[in-house]
Amino acid sequence: MSTLRFYAIKESLNRKAIKIEEPKRRSEGFAANVFNQNAMRQYLTKTAYASVTDAIEKGTKIDRDTADHISTGMKEWAISKGATHYTHWFQPLTGTTAEKHDAFFEPIGDGLAIEKFGGGQLVQQEPDASSFPNGGIRNTFEARGYTAWDPTSPAFIYGTTLCIPTVFVSYTGEALDNKTPLLRALQAIDAAAVDVCKYFDKNVKKVNASLGWEQEYFLIDRALAVSRPDITLTGRTLLGHSAAKGQQLDDHYFGSIPKRAMSFMQDLENECLLLGIPVKTRHNEVAPNQFELAPIYEEANLAVDHNSLLMDVMERVGERHDLKVLLHEKPFAGVNGSGKHNNWSLSTDTGINLLGPGKTPMSNLQFLTFFINTIKAVMDNEELLRASVASAGNDHRLGANEAPPAIISVFIGEQLTNVLNELEHVTNGKLTPQEKTDLKLNVVGKIPEILLDNTDRNRTSPFAFTGNKFEFRAVGSLANCANPMTVLNTIVAKQLIMFKEEVDALIKAKKLKKDEAIFNVLREYIKVSKRILFEGNGYSEAWEKEAEKRGLSNNKTTPEALKVKVSDRVVALFEEMGVMNKVESKARYEIEMEEYVLRIQIEGRVLGDIARNHVVPIVVKYQNVLIENVKGLKEIYGAGFKKHAKEQLNLIEDISRRLEVINSTITQMIEERKKANKIEDVEEKAHAYCHKVRPLFQDIRYHCDKLELLVDDKLWPLTKYRELLFTK
Ligand code: ADP
Ligand code: MG
Repeated sequence: MSTLRFYAIKESLNRKAIKIEEPKRRSEGFAANVFNQNAMRQYLTKTAYASVTDAIEKGTKIDRDTADHISTGMKEWAISKGATHYTHWFQPLTGTTAEKHDAFFEPIGDGLAIEKFGGGQLVQQEPDASSFPNGGIRNTFEARGYTAWDPTSPAFIYGTTLCIPTVFVSYTGEALDNKTPLLRALQAIDAAAVDVCKYFDKNVKKVNASLGWEQEYFLIDRALAVSRPDITLTGRTLLGHSAAKGQQLDDHYFGSIPKRAMSFMQDLENECLLLGIPVKTRHNEVAPNQFELAPIYEEANLAVDHNSLLMDVMERVGERHDLKVLLHEKPFAGVNGSGKHNNWSLSTDTGINLLGPGKTPMSNLQFLTFFINTIKAVMDNEELLRASVASAGNDHRLGANEAPPAIISVFIGEQLTNVLNELEHVTNGKLTPQEKTDLKLNVVGKIPEILLDNTDRNRTSPFAFTGNKFEFRAVGSLANCANPMTVLNTIVAKQLIMFKEEVDALIKAKKLKKDEAIFNVLREYIKVSKRILFEGNGYSEAWEKEAEKRGLSNNKTTPEALKVKVSDRVVALFEEMGVMNKVESKARYEIEMEEYVLRIQIEGRVLGDIARNHVVPIVVKYQNVLIENVKGLKEIYGAGFKKHAKEQLNLIEDISRRLEVINSTITQMIEERKKANKIEDVEEKAHAYCHKVRPLFQDIRYHCDKLELLVDDKLWPLTKYRELLFTK
């Protein structure tokens, strides 16, 4: 047997689950490593504490003197917890997180040194960051970027390092990270939603967007994973025949969690709890060796940070358990891929979930206002929402009959569909007293307080209302949630602003009462938003046809999907909402297209390499065995040998034919890559990679996979699907 594969299997069979102690009460150690309200109260002066609290709640600036006080307190706290270093922790556009550690240490002359961490170091840093993607924003002569403290996400200690969440911007103020536009979008939705809330409750001063993500992932034994060059370099298998058994028996989903996976989860959850990530749910997912972890939802900025942090922590904890965590959207063909549902809602500082039905007709009208405005926002921006989740990895899921399709639609369930149908017939203009009473009692008043159990759960919908939140299901497992969250909050903010203008105009021009005006505007929204509502099977071909008739976009690949991000309309939208200026929008588009190109380029190289250097030589070796066999038969039987060697001869020919296709397709792929690499324009280049290079993967893989079934198992060089997926 191929030595590496054999060695890896042997290693994996000797593993034992590590015993992990779980705290008896999770609440006890929760957030022990977070510089939260508790820690701040203990380590900060009263004024410093008040200043941070104001910055968090009202977005006020922290002056330099106060920053010095805060940094001193933060340092003392961190050292008391064993930290020796600090870092500005940020989310550059590579999709991962970045950090550069500095010690709390400063020589003061005469051979003496002190532990130092000043306000300046807390508030701002200038990492030499010229190698982070910037889409042309920073020319080399102005290569400075700086990180600036985001007090709304608390500092935390990971290992022995104090991590300070920061934004990352260019010297000229353009965002170079995922967090900055998100914070701006969250400000926009706050302002717009507060204005609309004032129709219902004058006391509302702040609206927070909430996010609860559900992270799916695969766990593969580390030795098996590193035995595969494709998993090591691209995070997924580029070839490999399906195992005889996949997920068809549905025996993994919600089944008992395998021992090693369980101890990984316990260990991971312990780490998460120390970091203040409120993990709650763990279970098996549909595919073998696939799992999910979900926390309790939090304010969106914090939730995004926590998810980024989690992805990093997962990898490190995995190492302790000799497990490789695969976050790629489609690590294995033939079984389910991984997503990251983004559950989203809006809540007020008065404690109301604006997407949860209330107790009174008035609070239900408020609910309907936010509910219908969200649907309208999705309707008007479905293509942009699709773009927000586009990536090379996610292209394998969307539209591939397992995850939501590449078509965005909204599912709301039967009950709410009925409510919208009734509201659609509200009288134009002034309502009669009878109609008003009727609406209040029979339509709006009839929405039950708890919709949760009443909404049927259509799992095929990319954007579903699930009782008190919308669930955006098209997000990929590897994605930084900041991207979809920035888009969703921006489009809803814009929609709420338009809504307010229309309602105010009706009140003024037509002298309508406030609730009459609201009913009138909502009626029109319902009419125009019907196009996006869909309750049927999103995976079906019929829906694809129907969606096309409805004029909904169906962008199946990343280059197609991203294009809308640089349309005049979208650029203007982000600009108007103060989320991104034109330069930032264009830069992001370039970076994402470039990333797509690079990913496909790497996959192409790795695939060519594995097929030529791993598969082909082994196949030739096996073919030689067959040839020897045929020669032997000829020796024994003489002229009549063909009768005995028929199958062998067929196999020899079959192998030759497949080797020919593999080899010539690789040559063709290399040619196409060369051509694509010469293209300057990033859009054209991405299209070349998408439509000329990538389709060739399929042929190469197909024949390699067929050969896997022919060649002696002992010789096969690559760890097989059944070994990767069914080793527990
Ligand atoms: P599912 O059936 O999809 O697993 P759950 O009810 O378990 O749904 O919730 C999944 C996620 O939704 C969790 O992260 C949870 O915290 C989050 N969630 C629940 N309520 C809200 C809400 N009002 N706003 C945002 N997220 C929420
Ligand atoms: Mg879900």
